[in-house]
Amino acid sequence: MIKRHIIFIYFVIQSECENTVMKIIRAEHLGMCFGVKDAIALAVETAKREPLTILGDLVHNETVLAELRAQGIRFEQNPTTVETQMVMITAHGASELVMNEARERGLNVLEATCPLVHAAHRSLKRLVAEGFHPVIIGKRNHVEVRGMTEDLDEFDVVLDEADVANLRERKQFGIISQTTQPIEKVRRLVELIRRRFPNSEVRFIDTVCQPTKQRQSAAVELAQKCDAVIVIGGAHSNNTHELVKTCSQFCMHVHHVQTADDLREEWFHADDTVGITAGTSTPDAVIEAVEQKLSVFSIRTDKPINTKEEILCKHG
Ligand code: SF4
Repeated sequence: MIKRHIIFIYFVIQSECENTVMKIIRAEHLGMCFGVKDAIALAVETAKREPLTILGDLVHNETVLAELRAQGIRFEQNPTTVETQMVMITAHGASELVMNEARERGLNVLEATCPLVHAAHRSLKRLVAEGFHPVIIGKRNHVEVRGMTEDLDEFDVVLDEADVANLRERKQFGIISQTTQPIEKVRRLVELIRRRFPNSEVRFIDTVCQPTKQRQSAAVELAQKCDAVIVIGGAHSNNTHELVKTCSQFCMHVHHVQTADDLREEWFHADDTVGITAGTSTPDAVIEAVEQKLSVFSIRTDKPINTKEEILCKHG
């Protein structure tokens, strides 16, 4: 009897090929706000008629600034160095002190101050007129905060718990905030001031602007459902930095880029859901360029995703 050993070696190599495509989603609210758009439009229109200097950075975005410079618009930080007759105040606003200095030098002052920054200035004036000690929640050296504080004799600027701990007791505190601070942080600091000074009257006027609130809450929603988030905005843009911080609370992979050139393919996996958001000074064209580059990354070559090997032995 011939015992036959038949050995079948049977390999089943199943290669299912699939195109895994990265999903790209935009935040519901992102990018340039109406205040910045209007200021840019006013600058461009004015520069067509006469030479123009903008006092301070119109926006904290190098792409936009380079385009404006290319149209002959100049930028100066101080009225003393302005060489054109017309000088423009940015959407961030300026103090009466600075604007009067410019007028006294014989310059024509064109205000592109955002109406929501004007509203914050008015709220602050009202609090001071009613005897409250002014406290501004924001960054001490930010152009908008300087515009709010330069006309005041006495004030405090707070940005964190340590600043609140350094406040001295007053009978009445009148609090507003820089328009681009996250509202949750602002409310937390107001509450901290109330608890630290239970015998003081603390009045808070919410001056965080609606576009900032919308971008912040849309960023939270976005970060919660994404594997990676790209935040687009200038290196010195306060609200862009705040968006990065907010997204980082809900997503482990958050990258801040200024333009599409900063994107790195190794940040992403083929099956990632990638979210895009952008600060209030980021132009639409920059957002579109980032989205386009991401969609190029998202197209992967076919690759096997399931390989099985089976060996069957038969004894006869
Ligand atoms: Fe106005 Fe808000 Fe835009 Fe500032 S961020 S320019 S306050 S809309």
